[in-house]
Amino acid sequence: MASIYIHFPWCLAKCPYCDFVSYATERDDIDHAGYADAIIREAEARARYLETDGSDARRIGSVFFGGGTPSLWDPRELGRVLERLRGLFAIDGDAEITVECNPTSLDGDRARALVDAGANRLSIGTQSLRQEQLRYLGRLHDPAGAQAAVAAAIEAGVPRVSTDLIFGLPNQTPEDARDQAETLASAGLRHLSCYQLTIEPGTQFGERKKRGLLPMADEGAVADSFLAIDEALERHGLRHYEISNYAAPGHEARHNLAYWRGDEYVGLGCGAFGYVRNRRGENGEDGSRSTGVRWRNAIVPKDYVARTKSMRSDAIDEGDGVTVMREDLSSESLLRERIMLGLRIAEGVDLARAADDLGIDPWTPERLRTIDALAERGRVVREGDVLRVPRAAWLFTDDTASRLF
Ligand code: SF4
Repeated sequence: MASIYIHFPWCLAKCPYCDFVSYATERDDIDHAGYADAIIREAEARARYLETDGSDARRIGSVFFGGGTPSLWDPRELGRVLERLRGLFAIDGDAEITVECNPTSLDGDRARALVDAGANRLSIGTQSLRQEQLRYLGRLHDPAGAQAAVAAAIEAGVPRVSTDLIFGLPNQTPEDARDQAETLASAGLRHLSCYQLTIEPGTQFGERKKRGLLPMADEGAVADSFLAIDEALERHGLRHYEISNYAAPGHEARHNLAYWRGDEYVGLGCGAFGYVRNRRGENGEDGSRSTGVRWRNAIVPKDYVARTKSMRSDAIDEGDGVTVMREDLSSESLLRERIMLGLRIAEGVDLARAADDLGIDPWTPERLRTIDALAERGRVVREGDVLRVPRAAWLFTDDTASRLF
């Protein structure tokens, strides 16, 4: 099962912590139809290269419109893109179709229009229910606006609604983080993403941190917030199925699960990343065997749109016109990624299955020794071929995964 990701690179304002490809603009300044045309041109070229109509066609279980703020996009144009994708790729009839939304561009009418366009899941960027925190995060909406957007989506009959919350803000108590998560869980949501604020280099926050001008949260309080949210949402029947994600059984985000399981995704749009297994047996640029290919598209919207007009479909590389980065991935590096991503999910990673898929042996003596040492410290649990991080040790997952490389 594979996925399709479509990137929409505009927002009404640039948040100071954001390191996504997103440009601040007014809604009316976006060429809605022109961007849809460009995505369709790229999709047609990528589909020809990926030979999606062959017997080996990738079945698509999820389509994700991310950004940026795709809820700014004219829903008719988004729907036109989706319809063309259905003609080009083997998209399952019951595929998950997600659109990321911001409260400033989502009301009942927009939610219904998105459903009419084919969406069956909306992911809404609430981020906080406290005015001073939203101001710190540079968000344009207020708490009432966020709650109204969530309620409007539910009332409009969107089959699946999720929202995002950020914790780990300066001076935030674990009780405050927990209360916000509980308020949202009580609003009838069956899926909630709770991210710890991270300060990325190159962002406004990153620059302020470098100069010592950014107030930072206390690390102990951040860890306690993580645990307080975990405890509260599990009590509400939302299972902590990935480090940052909670869902009622059956409401997990299929798109994200596919990513954490290491499945392929076709990335389309300005700045999008894609990853597919190499079925053509090509070697990498250095001559070594390439098991998979990751690529990235042009990151400036005008360039991206212009480049799709003369795009080639006989390769995915810097010569095709739209790709600006191609990386050949060996089986070993793909296995390391599967470990890193798989340890983030409650189900863990089936090392034997991953290795079998990639054609290598995962049980190197060194890795086995490391697994035993980590298991002794309660950092991982090994059940047959499955390796997972117990919930009590999720706070250390990044460190645990890096030791297994
Ligand atoms: S709304 Fe989201 S994508 Fe847009 S700037 Fe803010 S964090 Fe980035």
